Amino acid sequence: MSRGLSAMQRSILQILDEKHGMTSTKTLKTAMHNDICDQSFYRSLNSLEKRGLIWWHREHGGPQSSSGLVCLKHGSVLLIDADSTIPNIALMKLSAYHKARGDTVDLHRGLKVPTKVDYDIVYISCIYTHHARAARRLAKLLSTSCEVHLGGSGVDLKTTLPDEIEHLMPDYVLYPECNYSIGYTMRGCIRSCDFCQVRGKEGYAHPVADIYEFWDRRHKKLVLLDNNILALPDWFKKIAGQIKKENLRVDWNQGLDLRLVNEENAKILAGLHFSPYMRFAWDDIKSEPMIRRGIEILKAAGIKQAMFYVLCDFNSTFEEDLYRINTLKDLGMKAFVMLYNKELLKDKRYNSLMNFSNARMHFYTQTFEEYCTGREDGTYKLKAQERKQRLEIKKNPPPVLHGIDISSIEF
Ligand code: SF4
Repeated sequence: MSRGLSAMQRSILQILDEKHGMTSTKTLKTAMHNDICDQSFYRSLNSLEKRGLIWWHREHGGPQSSSGLVCLKHGSVLLIDADSTIPNIALMKLSAYHKARGDTVDLHRGLKVPTKVDYDIVYISCIYTHHARAARRLAKLLSTSCEVHLGGSGVDLKTTLPDEIEHLMPDYVLYPECNYSIGYTMRGCIRSCDFCQVRGKEGYAHPVADIYEFWDRRHKKLVLLDNNILALPDWFKKIAGQIKKENLRVDWNQGLDLRLVNEENAKILAGLHFSPYMRFAWDDIKSEPMIRRGIEILKAAGIKQAMFYVLCDFNSTFEEDLYRINTLKDLGMKAFVMLYNKELLKDKRYNSLMNFSNARMHFYTQTFEEYCTGREDGTYKLKAQERKQRLEIKKNPPPVLHGIDISSIEF
């Protein structure tokens, strides 16, 4: 254990051993005769911590609270995933970090947690701003009994993971249902759309990692959270090359920027296996000429279909939103409605627009007007019932003997 340690580091570990695993920095310094200069002492402590040989144990609450406790024992960590809809990468990296130090790690989903927990450290990750208040309240309550860290885009756009954690392979064991690898190859964006936090949070577009940093070799699919990888042409080529070489399916699930599509990158995109589909976004009606041009380039490269996020009710009227959806449909593309204001779900028109466009069976088989009429006069419900019956029969087919349905015959 002590190989490669300095004399000072060995003494620190020895004192900790004598003190049954825990002591404060003040006691350590006294035991080491007070003649150590502060800087080298703390450098030694930090170096031991980096090697995972000690860790800082901060006591919370009460007049005795001290931030200078050093511990040999392994800690227990609780990760609280307040509201993620996909596996939370930051928590998976924190889990990898703590497990590598020998700590025990548990995951809790949701914000219903007892206000007193038996853990040394708690991390809370909150993605959506509408959960921020509840997350802050929970953090405050828990901080009376343990060390608490609160982060995530819902509460804070500035807090990031330290570099030594950010570049760790995520601990996929934390989310056993996750059968794909997930991560960022780039952060930031070249644009600053008014409704988007990316530029404020992550800055100008820049590469951060290649796929090997977070790709678990057991997975055949990558979900990439890059916000605008086409803005970095060389980096895009490199990442696309890695995906192709490893024969992986890919989903750039934040959407690609169609305004940056050209013959060259369209050809590369056409050579990749997208799962479930290639995604773009059409947020502003004024971009129509660029969207039409981009779709032409895609088609010329052999990409016949893609899905488009359509941001509705952000500086646009209902008619303009519907126009974008119908235009995409006419061009053979799929539209997916994103409501800027979630309250609009209560609005019948937007609710219908969302249901119409986000369900393939409606979008491809009828117009929005037909869908609304069907909803009004009940035929939509009847059709849904028929469909349900057909599915039921498919699942549990009636007994058949020599091609004759015998379920109604009395024996
Ligand atoms: S292009 Fe996309 S990622 Fe970039 S600022 Fe606009 S919405 Fe955000």
